[in-house]
Amino acid sequence: MVSELILRGAVPSENEWDFAILLSCTVTSEADRKSRQQVRRYRRENPQGMILAAGCWVQELEEAEATRLGIDAAVGNRLKSLIPETLEKLFEAGSRPAKPVFLRMPSPPSCGWDPLALEKPAMHTRAFIKVQDGCDHFCSYCIVPFVRGVPVSREPSDILAEVGRVARSGCSEVVLTGVHLGLFGASGPWTLAKLVEEIARVPGMQRIRFGSLEPFALDDELIRTLARTAAFCPHLHLPLQSGDDKVLAAMRRGYSSADFARIVGRIRELWPEKLHLSTDLLVGFPGETDAAFQRTLALVRELGFGHLHVFPYSPRPGTLAASMEGHLPEAVAKARCEEGIAVGDELLRKFAAPFLGTTVPVLVEKARDGELKGLTPHFLPVRWKGNGALGRIENLRVRLFEKGEFRA
Ligand code: SF4
Repeated sequence: MVSELILRGAVPSENEWDFAILLSCTVTSEADRKSRQQVRRYRRENPQGMILAAGCWVQELEEAEATRLGIDAAVGNRLKSLIPETLEKLFEAGSRPAKPVFLRMPSPPSCGWDPLALEKPAMHTRAFIKVQDGCDHFCSYCIVPFVRGVPVSREPSDILAEVGRVARSGCSEVVLTGVHLGLFGASGPWTLAKLVEEIARVPGMQRIRFGSLEPFALDDELIRTLARTAAFCPHLHLPLQSGDDKVLAAMRRGYSSADFARIVGRIRELWPEKLHLSTDLLVGFPGETDAAFQRTLALVRELGFGHLHVFPYSPRPGTLAASMEGHLPEAVAKARCEEGIAVGDELLRKFAAPFLGTTVPVLVEKARDGELKGLTPHFLPVRWKGNGALGRIENLRVRLFEKGEFRA
């Protein structure tokens, strides 16, 4: 969105603004609350500014609430490519509209692709390239299938054209993303494996990564392709959520702990290089006993994960899990979350230790106050003093690992 708006003459600014876009989330009730809070903050900051809210929260937002909050335009999912022209029309009118303009994905949900295109990464040095949208897996705790629409894959020629454009703009790393990335190509001749091979052929593209990938999407063909593609970074984020079979079944994840362990075993077998596997844990799910939680921690240790994202469960109205029995007190979920984070810190330190004293290629991502920050191919952050150019890959000797990052 930012890339397209810049092409039309917009100038990003943190302080003074004529319009603000809120890209909203609705994955928890807390996310909804934060969206409302952010809109109110924008309205206080600039009573005459144009406020456009987009994304998942907007999909279910009532018009009366949008009016009350002072939203001028609300654009739901699969329609974000209409944001630039929606804003242009609002500005042509000269003042804020009497009531909010609403553009929303129809019901039943659209199966079309929302054609937003990236010319040059505007807010990162890496390019996040969306190749898939929508999900029909219906995990019991998740609202996403209700607000993101049915699964759809982006046209491979369109993806490759975009990768070519960002590579020519000087960007050397792409991250392929999707709501359920593993469903890419599900109804056509293309597979994720083929897509990665083609992207690796694009001149100038040195690093390829995936966003989160549901574990059941990994078959031998994909693992072998990733392992032999030099540009594919040795890191996969595979959300486990729980290591307890009863909890996994209640979550409707579609695999058991043994299935997950088998997939990880296959990855380690077919990918001889040292690989960083990170994961998500959702703790404090209805019915999760202490023993079940300990089984989850034992499994993440056994499977040799590095980074853990640990989230406390909170009921999301509209999902099956919200009406399940056995909800746990918030304090229990919070305590388990803290324990999970501590285990994650320990596992990440253990994974990072063998790199200490070695030289690693780091993509320079951020510069602030004479310090630079970037990522190694294994998705480990590095911080060092210097003034290098953003987007460059520098070879650095890492000497210390503290607070989840290397010092070079
Ligand atoms: S696969 Fe992911 S997006 Fe789809 S329902 Fe499950 S958690 Fe939600």
